[in-house]
Amino acid sequence: MEIGVKKTIFSPKAIINQKFGSKACYKVEKVQEESTQNGFPGLAIPQKAPLFRCQLELPEFTVVSDICRKKKDAEQSAADLALKMLGHNSVAENPSDKDPCDALIDQIKYLFSDEFPLPLHPLRGHLRAALLRRGDLYGLVPASVIAACDTKTSNLCKLLNPEVELKPFLALSLIMRTIPRLSGCVTSKGQLSIQKQNPYPTEIIESSDIQQSDSSESILVKAIQIPASLDKTVQPVTLHISSAGYYLDVIAEELGVTDASKVFLSRTIGKASSETRLYFAASESLVMDLLSDLANVKDFHVEGPPNARASYFCGQGIYGDAIMASIGYTWRSKELFHEHVSLQSYYRMLISKIPSGIYKLSREAILAAELPSVFTSKANWRGSSPREILCAFCRQHWLSEPIFSVTSVPLKASCELLRSQNKLKVTEVAGLATEYANGGGLNAGDGESVGLESNFKCEVKVFSKGWDLIMECSPKEIYRKQTDATHSASLKVLSWLNAYFKDLGMPLEKLNCSADALDISFSLENFHKEFALSQSIHNVQQSGIQGSKLPESKSTDMQYTLSGQDVCLPNIEGSDSGVFPSNGSLLCISYSVSLVTEGGHAKELIESKDEYEFEMGAGAVISALEAVVTQMSAGQCAHFNMKLPPQEFILAAVDDPGRIHSLLSSEACCLEYHVTLLRVTKPPEERMEQALFSPPLSKQRVEYAVQQIKKSCAATLVDFGCGAGSLLDSLLDYPTSLEKIVGVDISQKSLGRAAKVLHAKLSSKSDAGVKSAILYDGSITEFEPQLCGFDIGTCLEVIEHMEEDQACRFGDIALGYFRPKVLIVSTPNYEYNVILQRSSPGTQEEYPDEKSQSESCKFRNHDHKFEWTREQFNHWASELAKKHNYSVEFSGVGGSGDVEPGFASQIAVFKQESLLDEDDLLTKQNSSQHCKVVWNWNCADGLVPSLTSN
Ligand code: SAH
Ligand code: MG
Repeated sequence: MEIGVKKTIFSPKAIINQKFGSKACYKVEKVQEESTQNGFPGLAIPQKAPLFRCQLELPEFTVVSDICRKKKDAEQSAADLALKMLGHNSVAENPSDKDPCDALIDQIKYLFSDEFPLPLHPLRGHLRAALLRRGDLYGLVPASVIAACDTKTSNLCKLLNPEVELKPFLALSLIMRTIPRLSGCVTSKGQLSIQKQNPYPTEIIESSDIQQSDSSESILVKAIQIPASLDKTVQPVTLHISSAGYYLDVIAEELGVTDASKVFLSRTIGKASSETRLYFAASESLVMDLLSDLANVKDFHVEGPPNARASYFCGQGIYGDAIMASIGYTWRSKELFHEHVSLQSYYRMLISKIPSGIYKLSREAILAAELPSVFTSKANWRGSSPREILCAFCRQHWLSEPIFSVTSVPLKASCELLRSQNKLKVTEVAGLATEYANGGGLNAGDGESVGLESNFKCEVKVFSKGWDLIMECSPKEIYRKQTDATHSASLKVLSWLNAYFKDLGMPLEKLNCSADALDISFSLENFHKEFALSQSIHNVQQSGIQGSKLPESKSTDMQYTLSGQDVCLPNIEGSDSGVFPSNGSLLCISYSVSLVTEGGHAKELIESKDEYEFEMGAGAVISALEAVVTQMSAGQCAHFNMKLPPQEFILAAVDDPGRIHSLLSSEACCLEYHVTLLRVTKPPEERMEQALFSPPLSKQRVEYAVQQIKKSCAATLVDFGCGAGSLLDSLLDYPTSLEKIVGVDISQKSLGRAAKVLHAKLSSKSDAGVKSAILYDGSITEFEPQLCGFDIGTCLEVIEHMEEDQACRFGDIALGYFRPKVLIVSTPNYEYNVILQRSSPGTQEEYPDEKSQSESCKFRNHDHKFEWTREQFNHWASELAKKHNYSVEFSGVGGSGDVEPGFASQIAVFKQESLLDEDDLLTKQNSSQHCKVVWNWNCADGLVPSLTSN
C-alpha cells in the first residue's frame, strides 16, 4: 500500500492550501548572481542555472523561503516555514522513519508534557481553560479536541486509518488506544478524554499565562442549529460562555449531553483560516464502541443516517442534530476566538456550494447576478474569475485543486494554416499543438510570460481528494493569452456543474448532452460519489418554496415572453435617449429587489445596489433582467415582477432570513425588480467604427442598401439577421419604393427592440410608403416559405456570427431557395483589422484595459465566429453565385477598395440571372413554416401586437 500511504501525507503546500486556499499567495522570484537588466529579459542567457526564492503571503503574515534550485522547492520551503509559524508540525518532514503508532504515542505524550505552556502548543487554549476550571489541575481535554485541533495527531490518525478523513470520530478510538501504552496520561473511566496523571507543576498553574486576565467577561456567541431531520428548518442559537467556563461544555449542554468529552468536532469549514466547525453529540453506544478495544470492530453504533445538511458542509459524517459555530482557540492568542454565525451566513455558505452562488457572492448581487455563460475577455469580466470560482467550488466540495494544463500552439502555424486553407476553422488549428507551455504543470498561473509568439489552449481536470478523475474539459478553442484559455476552460466546467445544480433531477441523457456541448467528459461513478448529497440538500431547499402566481401587470403596451422566463412585462419609464446596449456593451445599472406578497400588503427590500456593472450578452445577470435591460436606453428605468428563485438565494441575500422565511411561508410572494440603466459603454467594435468612420460604417451600409433599392425599384425587402432593426429603421428615413419590409433574426431580445423602434417610427409617419412590416423569429439557415421571392434581400454583418458551414448553408438557402432578385451581403474584412487596431482611438485612459482586450480578441467582436480576408469572401460568394445562377459584384464601405487593405466592411451584391426552376418550386411546396411572427404591422390597422405565445 505504498501509494495509499503516500496519498495521505500532505506536503506543506497542500496543508497551507487546505487552510488558506486562494488566500495563500506565492510569489516566486528569480535570484541571479549577476543582474541582466538589459531590457530584454527574454534574450538574457543566464550564465548559471537560476535560483529561486519564494515569498508566501498569508492573511496574517508573510514568510520568505530559503533559496532553492527549483521553483516548487522554494514554494514548499515557504509553506513549511509558514506551517512552523502556525504551530503545525509538518508530517511530511519524516513520515517514514517512525512507525505511525509510535509517533502517535509520542505526540500525545508531547501534548501533555510538563513543558507546557509552549507558545505554539496546539492545545494551549484548551489546557488553559481546563486549568482555570474549578480545581482541575490535570488538564482534562476531550479526545475529540485533540483529534480536531492538533494537525499532527490528526494526520497520524489518517495514516493509521484512512477512513478518519471522512469519519473523524474514528480517530478517537486510535487516540484512546494509546493511553495504556503511555506513561503520564490517563483517562477517567467511560470518558473520551485525556488528562495528565499528575497535576501540572504549580509554577505553570500560577504563571500569568494561565491566570485569567481581568478584562475577561462572559461572551455571547451566535451559532446555528442544524436539525438532523430535513423537515426541520435551521435555527439560530446563542451560546453563553462565562469567563471561567469551557466553551465545549456550553455546546455539550446545547446538544443535550453531559460534558465536553461527548461532543464531536468536524474539521473547519468555510472561508480560509476560519474556526467554523460542526459539533454533534455522540450517542452512548458510540462512546462505548470507541472506548472498547476496537481493533476488529467494523461497524460503530452511529444512530440513524447522517445529518445530511451538516455532513454536506464539512464533507464528513455528522450524526444527529448539529451546531455550527465559529469558536475556538487559535495559535494567535490564548483568548477564545469567536465569530457569530448568522442564519444569513448559513445560507450564504449553502449557495457557495453552487457555481452560480459563488459568482453571486463574489459580486454581492445574489438576486441579480448570474454566472456568465461566456468568457469574452478579462477586461469585461466582473467578479471572481472563472478559475477562482472553479477552485473555490472544488474546495467547497472537498475535492483536490483542479489541474490546468496549458498547451501552446505556435502562432505562425495557426496563422499560415488559416490563410492557406479557406475552409479550416480556427478551432481546428489547435489540434496541431505540440509543446507544453508549462510541462503540463499544476498551475497555468497568471503569468503571461510564455512566448508572445504562441496561442494557447487549456485543459482542466477535476479530481476527488483521493485523485480519482471526476471530469475533464478539453476545449478546442485557442486563445491569445494563457489566462483567457484557462478562464474559458474553467467556465465550461462551471457552466456544466451549474446546469447540474440548477436541475438536480436532470436525466443522464441531458447531463451527457450538455457535457458534450462543453467538451467535457466525466466519470458518472465518481461524479455521483462526490455529489450524491447535493441532491437531497438543494432539492429540499427548492421544494420548500411557496408556489406563487405573478401579480397582474398594470399596463400592457406590448408583451413579450422572454425566452420562456416567467417575467412580467416591464414597465419602462423615461424618455428614449437612443443609446441602446448591444452585445458586448458594458452596462451600468442601479437596481433594487423587494419581496412583495401577492395581496401587495407586505413589501420587504431584499437587495439593492447603486452601481452595478456587467457585460451585455454574456449572461452575467439573471436572464429576465438582461432581457429587460435590452429594451431600455440609457437613462430609462423599469420595473417588473418575477417568480421566486430557489429560497436559499433569497435567504442568503437578507440580513434577517428568519423574518423573510416566515413571510415566505405565510403567503404567496414574488420579487419586484426596479432597475435604472445608468450608462452604456459600447463594445470595442462599435466604438472603433464610430470614432474612425464618418459617417459611421453602419450608416454607410444603410446608404449602400438604399442605393441598391433605388436602382432596382424594389417594393419588398427582407433583412436577414435584422438584429435590433437598425437597417429597417433607417430605411424608413429615406423615400424609397418599398411597400413591405420584413426582418428575421434568432435573437428574441433584438427582435423585441426592433419591434419597439419600428412601431414608434411607423406610427408617427402617416405618409410612409411602407404598408406592411413583419418581424420573424427564426433562423435564416432554415427553409421558410414566407421569405421567398422578395425583390431585395439584405444580410449585413451577420454571416460572421455563424460557423462557416452555416454561412455556406445560408448562401445556398438564400440563393437557391429564397431567391431574392438582389441579395446584399456584408461582412468584416479581416485584413482591415490591423488598421482598426493600430488607430484604436484615444480610448486608453477611458478604458485602461482596451489594449489587452483587443489583443486577446482576434476578431472585432467576441461573437464573431470568423472574419474573412477579401480572398476568402470572394471565394465563398463566387462559388455560390455560380452554383445558383446569380451574378456577383464586390465592393464595400469604410476606406477604399483601391487602397490596401481594401474596405473595412466588404460587400457582395448578388443579382438573379434566371427565374426559379422546377426543383426549387418543389422544395418550396414541401417545406413547412418554422418562423414565428413576433410583430406584424399594417398601415390599415396599425399595430397588431403580441402574437408571441409559447
Ligand atoms: N444586421 C444587423 C445585425 C448584425 S449582428 C445590423 O447590421 O445591425 C448579427 C445578427 O445576426 C444578430 O442579431 C444575430 O442574432 C443574427 N443571427 C446570427 N445567426 C443567425 C441565424 N442563423 N438566423 C438569424 N439570425 C442570426
Ligand atoms: Mg458583426
